Amino acid sequence: MLENTLFETHFNIIPFPIYVIDINSYEIVFCNSSFKAVFGDRTDNTCYEALYGHEAPCIDCRIPQLVDDKRGPNGLSLTVEKFNERNDRWYQLQEKALSWPDGRTVKHTIAVDITELKEVQNKLVEAHASLALKTRQLEHLAAHDNLTGVLNRLSLEKALHAEIDRTERYGREFSFVILDIDRFKSINDTFGHQVGDEVLVEFCRLLVENLRQSDLLGRWGGEEFVIICPETDLDAVLKMAEKLRSRVADHAFDGAGRVTASFGVTQFIAGDSQRSLMKRADDALYLAKKKGRNMVLEG
Ligand code: GH3
Ligand code: MG
Ligand code: MG
Repeated sequence: MLENTLFETHFNIIPFPIYVIDINSYEIVFCNSSFKAVFGDRTDNTCYEALYGHEAPCIDCRIPQLVDDKRGPNGLSLTVEKFNERNDRWYQLQEKALSWPDGRTVKHTIAVDITELKEVQNKLVEAHASLALKTRQLEHLAAHDNLTGVLNRLSLEKALHAEIDRTERYGREFSFVILDIDRFKSINDTFGHQVGDEVLVEFCRLLVENLRQSDLLGRWGGEEFVIICPETDLDAVLKMAEKLRSRVADHAFDGAGRVTASFGVTQFIAGDSQRSLMKRADDALYLAKKKGRNMVLEG
């Protein structure tokens, strides 16, 4: 027990539980009124039993960190957060080893109940996570075509700009494809707009299945699509487009049967702008349409 009653009175007016334990026996040497109000007067009980109902010292006991080699106070002050399962409260514990008037080394702890703060913190973390998820969903919506799920025109323009930059800067290569579904108007007219929409979705799924991960597919508008193929030369892109053309032509589309598409492909040439690159591909596509459709032409 503390001899100095002024000292004791002082501790007792502090509105947080304060307790002092013998670092060797773990027995509570002193506890203030706030402590007693929560845990009862547990003087002479071990801290692990009195506070947590444990039969042995806590595995995260900070005493080893607070004492020097001779088990005297090392001057360090620690602040930890700890959940007390016994009363379901969170505490911020400020701990320090001290020399007690009777010569023993003790650990002095101020326990601040931070349960409400933790609840607010948790709500904030949850709100933050849900906001991050919503932001990702919104970003996805803003970047993709809502019917087919492929990139939208805005994303394609950004990607093309970046690819031209990268290719120019590092002297790399890339190729570009414009493709357009043949006689799509008659698909709509014959089978209805709903079937037309389903053809667009199935068409994109077919393309995605047959593209490399690094290729970027997007909807340029209507039934016209674009593919950006990084690190791809003309030979490779011609082969790739031919494979896509035949996969589409061989596929039986739900409700519409056979559907074909025409392709204009080109490789980036140093000095190309977005416009000059697209014009070459577009001219090749136009020629493919003129020559009878369902074909790949280079520009
Ligand atoms: P071509 O072989 O020359 O490309 O002929 P086409 O009929 O495919 O070309 P055209 O430009 O005459 O018609 C394109 C049609 O695509 C007209 C338009 O209504 C239709 N279309 C555009 N977007 C959509 C869409 O989101 N859903 C559906 N169902 N139809 C669309
Ligand atoms: Mg068309
Ligand atoms: Mg078109």
